[in-house]
Amino acid sequence: MDRIDNYYTATQNDTTTYPPLESDISVDIAIVGGGFTGVATAVEMAERGFSVALCEANRIGWGATGRNGGQVTGSLSGDQAMLAQLRKRGHKDAEDFIWHLRWEGHDIIRERIARYGIECDLKTGHLHTAWHENDIPEFLNTVETAHRYGMEDDVAWLSQDEVHQMLDTPLYHGGIYNKRNLHLHSLNLCLGEARAASSLGAQLFEQTPVLDIVGRRQPHLKTAKGIIKAKKVVLAGNAYHKLVRKQLGGLLFPAVLGNMTTEPLSDELATKINSHDVAVYDSRMVLDYYRLTADNRLMFGGGTNYSGRELANVAASLTPSMLETFPALKGTRIDYAWTGTAGIVMNRIPLVGKLGSNVYYAQGYSGHGIATSHIMAEVLAEAVTGTLEKFDVFADFDHRRVPGAQLFGNGFLAMGMWYYQFREKLRNR
Ligand SMILES: Cc1cc2nc3c(=O)[nH]c(=O)nc-3n(C[C@H](O)[C@H](O)[C@H](O)COP(=O)(O)OP(=O)(O)OC[C@H]3O[C@@H](n4cnc5c(N)ncnc54)[C@H](O)[C@@H]3O)c2cc1C
Repeated sequence: MDRIDNYYTATQNDTTTYPPLESDISVDIAIVGGGFTGVATAVEMAERGFSVALCEANRIGWGATGRNGGQVTGSLSGDQAMLAQLRKRGHKDAEDFIWHLRWEGHDIIRERIARYGIECDLKTGHLHTAWHENDIPEFLNTVETAHRYGMEDDVAWLSQDEVHQMLDTPLYHGGIYNKRNLHLHSLNLCLGEARAASSLGAQLFEQTPVLDIVGRRQPHLKTAKGIIKAKKVVLAGNAYHKLVRKQLGGLLFPAVLGNMTTEPLSDELATKINSHDVAVYDSRMVLDYYRLTADNRLMFGGGTNYSGRELANVAASLTPSMLETFPALKGTRIDYAWTGTAGIVMNRIPLVGKLGSNVYYAQGYSGHGIATSHIMAEVLAEAVTGTLEKFDVFADFDHRRVPGAQLFGNGFLAMGMWYYQFREKLRNR
């Protein structure tokens, strides 16, 4: 399938197509999936001198990577669950480990953009807003932690009034202003990284679904017109793949998220609603997220459907929240509206590990995957070259498998998420 029509595809700056696989080949590393996880892994492996082949069922960036909110934040999903598990295991530097890890993706992305000259509308600045008044103590605690780790210049607590000077909205009780966080054109970053991988000799194949992974010791990827023999395989299909269900089934759930962009706003209106050009998300479990694009559109997302079904009318369902946030946008046209599927893990800790001795996987960043996918790509590359320190930490995390998930679909998760939303409504009264 081709990429969907959305803001990202309408403004993509690279029209390269990669051919389908039509013969049998042998490589060191074969990768399934051409989103951030797969493409960033291809770059990491090719930079280390491995021969690489990547198969994407559709087009590079076709999945969540070409549809997301473009916010690169230090919100490592599952951090609290990780901390609890690491402490229980007696990990001495658990807090330091997680704190430093959460910023590594930013450095990788910045460095890669600079090294390969990737044009992807990179901007800095993010606001995590407090939806409820009783979020404030936790937010202050986060700011204090950031300062303890030396981020005084990058992270600040903003009062309700200060937030309202930045954003023309009646919402929020304050927020954390983070100057280290980034926002960018997600598809153009991924296409630039694909170009970088290809320039390093990686072979990229589009319109090439992997039908099966056969053999664990000497794994082969089976596709319609060719087989890839590999020393190692990396499974990077996230919420869109149906491979190795026996081992991975019931661990990851697809959540359909909506996203849209307005028509380009005048400079005056864009500055009025978001004077510091920050990316924003709020503190709710099912949150709104938004930012201004390079051509002054408001990109506004939210509204999660955990049943895995498509949202019926994205623009109609997101517009009331957008207008509640920015009443000044009344009458503004919506030019693009779309959905994408993110991979959610019950305890939110990314699913990273190994099946047998040579098939690795990394998936399930629970809606916070731009930085995390880049971190995991590096963790996988380090593991393949023998540095297992971080990989082992992730591979050892406990994950709950929902029994019978394959039989009953996402009904269990939908019920659980409905409960959280209901609890949030009660809390909001
Ligand atoms: C609407 C939306 C908004 C989001 N906003 C943000 C945000 O602002 N910030 C943030 O950090 N994260 C955000 N995320 C999450 C982020 O986009 C994802 O975590 C990240 O893109 C995951 O990358 P990935 O490569 O693992 O998966 P994907 O990008 O989904 O890529 C997986 C790819 O694998 C391919 N594939 C699957 N099966 C096979 C097969 N058998 N053979 C070959 N190829 C296969 C698919 O075609 C797909 O292209 C958002 C997600 C969505 C959906």
